[in-house]
Amino acid sequence: MALKGAVLSFPHLGDYHVPIAYFAKRLLNMKVIKPLPITKKTLEIGAKYSPDSVCVPFKYNLGNFIESLDQGASVLIQAGGGCRFGYYAEVQEQILRDLGYKFTFIRIVSNDKLTVTNIYRQLKQINPRLNFFLFIYYFYFIIRMSKSLENIQQYVNKNSGFEVEKGSFGLLYNKFLGEIELVNNIGELNRLFLRYQRAFNKLPINKPVDCLKVGIVGEVYVAIEPFSNCYVESQMAKKGVEVTRLVTATRILLRRPKDHRDLLVKAHPYLKYAIGADGTDSVAKTKVFAEEGYDGVIHIKPFACIPELNAMPMLQKISHDYNMPILYLSFDAQTSEAGVLTRLEAFYDMLLMKRGH
Ligand code: SF4
Repeated sequence: MALKGAVLSFPHLGDYHVPIAYFAKRLLNMKVIKPLPITKKTLEIGAKYSPDSVCVPFKYNLGNFIESLDQGASVLIQAGGGCRFGYYAEVQEQILRDLGYKFTFIRIVSNDKLTVTNIYRQLKQINPRLNFFLFIYYFYFIIRMSKSLENIQQYVNKNSGFEVEKGSFGLLYNKFLGEIELVNNIGELNRLFLRYQRAFNKLPINKPVDCLKVGIVGEVYVAIEPFSNCYVESQMAKKGVEVTRLVTATRILLRRPKDHRDLLVKAHPYLKYAIGADGTDSVAKTKVFAEEGYDGVIHIKPFACIPELNAMPMLQKISHDYNMPILYLSFDAQTSEAGVLTRLEAFYDMLLMKRGH
C-alpha cells in the first residue's frame, strides 16, 4: 500500500511532467498534483525563500514545491547529483520545514549516482510493497514516453519556423501532449508516436535547403525549461531558423561511464578532463555543431553555474577555430526578457550578415 491519502508532486521541467505523472499514478497508485506551469509568480516565490546566490533552477524548483504544497501535495520528490544539484533536496526540505509545511520528502540522491536501483530503493519509501519487475516495466515505459516526446519536440524545433499555416505545429504538438498521457501500454504508445510522426511530416512547410541552423547547448535545466530561458527555441524558430537542442533528460538519465569517455573523445583537443555536470557535454556538442557546419550556437546557463563557466573558454576557442559565432546567455531571477530578445535579434542579424544577406 502506498502512503495513505498521500498526494505526490515534483518540480516542473519542460513537458516531462507528463511521463513523470504517468509513472507516479500507474506505478505508485497515488494521486498526483502536476506542478503548475511556471510563471513569474513561481519564480518570485522561489527566489523569495532561496539563498540569494544559489543557481536559478533551485529557485524554480522551490517555487514549484510551494505552489504544489499550497494546492494540497503531501509528498515531494526531488532528484540530485553532481555539482550543487546534489544539495538541492536537503536545503529545499529544510527551507520548506522552516516555513511550516508538513510533508514527506523523497530524495533520489545517493553518492552522486542516479541509478535505477537507487530510484527503486527511494520509491519503496512511498510504497514498501513496490514490485521490482513492475518498477522496471514502468521505468522502461516512461523512458520510451520521454523519448517520443523528445523526438517530436526535435522535429518541431527544426521545422516549425517554416510552417505554411501559422500555429499548425503548436496545435498538433498540444494534441499529441494531450493524447500521450492516455495510452495504456507500450504498443499503444508506439502506435501513437508513429501516427503523430506521420501527421507532423504531412504538415506543409516552406523550408529552404540552405536555411540558417542554430544549435543550443548548456545547463540541462535552463536548456530544457522554456520559461527559464525566455523561450529561446521558439523565438529563434519564429525567425525562420532550424533549431537543434541535443540536451535532453533521457540522455542525462541514461548516461553511462562509457558515455563520459565518449564525450571527452568528442571534445578533443579542447578538453582532457571532465569539467563537471553538463560542461563537458556543452564543449563536445558545440564542437559537433561546428563540424556539421551550423551557422551558430547559443550557450545557455544559469548565472554563476560553475560547470558551464568552466566550458566557456573552450567554447570561445571552438568559435574562433571554426569561425562559428556563439551567443552566451546567462539566466537568473532578475533576467530581463526584453534584454534576451534584443540579444537574440542581434545574433540573428549577425548570422544573416555572415551569410552575406
Ligand atoms: S549545473 Fe549549474 S545550475 Fe545546474 S545545479 Fe549545477 S551549478 Fe547549479
